[in-house]
Amino acid sequence: MIKFKAVKYEKAFERLAKSRFRSRFHLKCADKRYIAEKGLATIRRHCEDFVRKNLAPQFPPNDGRQTPMRGHPVFIAQHATATCCRSCLEKWWKIPQGTIIPDTRIKGIVDFLMAWIEKEYGENKEDSVINSLPCKDEKML
Ligand SMILES: [Zn+2]
Repeated sequence: MIKFKAVKYEKAFERLAKSRFRSRFHLKCADKRYIAEKGLATIRRHCEDFVRKNLAPQFPPNDGRQTPMRGHPVFIAQHATATCCRSCLEKWWKIPQGTIIPDTRIKGIVDFLMAWIEKEYGENKEDSVINSLPCKDEKML
């Protein structure tokens, strides 16, 4: 499944990889441990909540600053994939500002974010560091 998703989003990931800003974002040890604890299905629910609440409205509150730089793996994924605010969604993915994002596109954004998370999480998933306490980078979260 991960392989299929990676193929589906290959072009989008390639585009993002060319951005120095976007390619700087990666899941840290503590993010991966959080995913391991919660499970991907729960992370997906969180992801959909964030997208619906913070991006989908016609005029999302605090637009441009609604996505913190840390604190949840989905936030990191949003910066990495340029789905952090309506301006980035328009610039990168041609989703016009000032419109309500329809359910089909919400699902598309969530699928894309989860594909990025699964790719990052999949890399070093077996890493014992995920289960070690505390993570070395913990204070950065
Ligand atoms: Zn943005």
